[in-house]
Amino acid sequence: MKDRTADKSMLRRLRFTAVVLSFLLFSLVIVRLFYMQVINYDFYETRAMSNQTRDKTLYPARGTIYDTNMKPLAISASTEMLILMGNKLESDEQRAYIAENLSGILGMSYGDVFAKTQSTSRYIVISRGVEKDAADEVRAFIKANSGYDKFMYFLNDSTRYYPYGNFLSHVLGFVGSDEQGLSGIEYVYEEELSGTVGRSVTATNPRGDEMPFEYEIYYEAEDGHSLVLTIDEVLQHYLEKNLEVAYNDNKVRQGVTGIVMDVNTGGILAMATYPDFDPNEPFVLTNDDVVKELATIKDADERNAKRSEELDKQWNNKAVSFTYYPGSTFKIITASTGLEEGVISTSSTFICGGSYKVGTRSISCWKSDGSHGTQTLAKAIQNSCNPAFMQIGFKIGKELFTKYVEAFGLREKTGIDLPGEAVGLYNLTQDIDLAVYSFGQNFTITPIQLITAVSAVANGGTLLKPYLVKEILDKDGNVLESFGRTEIRQVISSETSEIMCGLLEGVVKYGTGKNAYVAGYRVCGKTGTTEKIAEQLQTGADDLRVSSFVAFAPADNPQIAVLILLDEPTVQPVTGGLTVAPVIRRFLEEAMPYIGVEPQYTEDELKSKDVTVPNILGLTLEKANAVLKAAGINGITSGSGDTVTDQLPAAGSIISNNANVMIFMGGSAPDTPITMPDLSGMTLDRAQKTLQNIGLYVKVEGIKTGTGNVIVTKQSIESGETVKYGDVIIIELSDMDQRAT
Ligand SMILES: [Zn+2]
Repeated sequence: MKDRTADKSMLRRLRFTAVVLSFLLFSLVIVRLFYMQVINYDFYETRAMSNQTRDKTLYPARGTIYDTNMKPLAISASTEMLILMGNKLESDEQRAYIAENLSGILGMSYGDVFAKTQSTSRYIVISRGVEKDAADEVRAFIKANSGYDKFMYFLNDSTRYYPYGNFLSHVLGFVGSDEQGLSGIEYVYEEELSGTVGRSVTATNPRGDEMPFEYEIYYEAEDGHSLVLTIDEVLQHYLEKNLEVAYNDNKVRQGVTGIVMDVNTGGILAMATYPDFDPNEPFVLTNDDVVKELATIKDADERNAKRSEELDKQWNNKAVSFTYYPGSTFKIITASTGLEEGVISTSSTFICGGSYKVGTRSISCWKSDGSHGTQTLAKAIQNSCNPAFMQIGFKIGKELFTKYVEAFGLREKTGIDLPGEAVGLYNLTQDIDLAVYSFGQNFTITPIQLITAVSAVANGGTLLKPYLVKEILDKDGNVLESFGRTEIRQVISSETSEIMCGLLEGVVKYGTGKNAYVAGYRVCGKTGTTEKIAEQLQTGADDLRVSSFVAFAPADNPQIAVLILLDEPTVQPVTGGLTVAPVIRRFLEEAMPYIGVEPQYTEDELKSKDVTVPNILGLTLEKANAVLKAAGINGITSGSGDTVTDQLPAAGSIISNNANVMIFMGGSAPDTPITMPDLSGMTLDRAQKTLQNIGLYVKVEGIKTGTGNVIVTKQSIESGETVKYGDVIIIELSDMDQRAT
């Protein structure tokens, strides 16, 4: 990353020459100043008070951080810095006077300003990042107080702004009050972003005015470089929106995190953790409960310690730092290993009797109400059957199993360009370890490791290095360095990769991943839910779960992978298939068309596809019926006029294609207010009839059919609220039989 091109070393030589030249020039001025101050001391002392030079630090502008389409996400704006020459102050009265007048303008406390004025330094930075309005007020204050211009002045400064607030906060990170990167990209790329500080020394006359040019030495500040991220602002927005919904819907205690990766390059397209924070004010705690809790702590030291612990938690990027049992999502790795080593094939069968014996211990399948019986490999993955995977684990053996875990990069940092990347615990020695490791228990990995490994399974078998910065630009926008696909190693063959894509598509089509199904798209995925054993032992709680889902699409030519993980969801039942799969679906529904993958509907999907209601106002009944028919909708007529005077629902509404549109031939549709009923737990059929009976329409999201226990889990209007006759209600269905871990 640091190897420079020939052009750059030329640049460096030029820069070196410039530094030498300015050093010589600087020495001349020093000699001159030395002459003024020492040799000719009396002469100048009689004319000057004591200050003959003004030494200014010149701050460079920090580089911009852009998303992949050059949307600026972190920018530096010109501001000013207020400097006070403490050696010129005469009394505490004066210090108090300054603090009284400036604290309000600068948004500081009286005490803070007063404390700063105590120093006798000639260069006290009272405040950085002062914006124009405040600076103008300070200038008016200086002007109104005779002589104040001799010891108070402004320098140019630059201030970091994050125009979209909380957006991408954990990835961007933030800067401290001295504009130095403290976390995230801002921290990792501090050297590239920060630029070089400049300096100017100017002689001043007795009145404090700057003397003519010959007495000035000037090192120009060198602005920082800009970064272009692999992050796509649109996908990031879709991810963040869905994480927030998932957090609230599932009353998640410890936060949610998600990563979207380009499986063919390793570029991170989106990465988020919720709750988030505003990098413009990173030290403000965003969790209200925490703020309330802090207020109850009496002891100041204790309160501060807790506060800084909570801030660390707030800034913590779980996507790279959180270690957890991957659970059943890891079955992707076990199956890939077994296929690659030839110890299993698509024609292998596995018997599940509800549990599996390892030595004297019996380890249960997640299916508590019976067993899975004899299953093909495809069924075993769809069922997420633990005994089947223990059998695969023993066919692989301990040594090979560990070899593949390492090859998939799960025992080392991925090397992503973010701070705080963790590595989990792995210690496979006994048979019992192999048994439970086979289905993802008792060893820990990070989310970034998992999605990187799964991307290798999806992309034909190559493990790639995940990365966030794709280009470094100079201040004129020229590309200085660029980064792309970095291959770590080939882990599995393209044949194994292809088989895995088929098997994982089956999980979403027929298995525990059904709730991630997106009409028109071939989605591959795997659920995973595990207990936080260590934390449960520590706290005595028994309901601490991590629920996750990893997916990629489309099955025939994988482009993107997405992993979403909920740390301690509390709405029961907690399973990857029920808790996270719908979140993945909502994300992919928006993301797939955005990345340019066209939907291809099957015949069944076309039958249950939604339709957009056409405009039939003003048409004859015959014409109106023809228009509706062409759109695949039936009409029900009311009245007997010549032309359509009203319709329900309104043109443009999206409804299920088996709904009837009301055609009013004379008069208009009733405007009766309706109280929204509670649909939760109803089947699609019952929900549709319930709404139809009171004059409401339905648009369905999520799976629409299925032999399982498919019921309404979400409705766009809460029960009890008032809606209008003919309104369209969006409902979401989930298959409640997806209880696999
Ligand atoms: Zn089973």
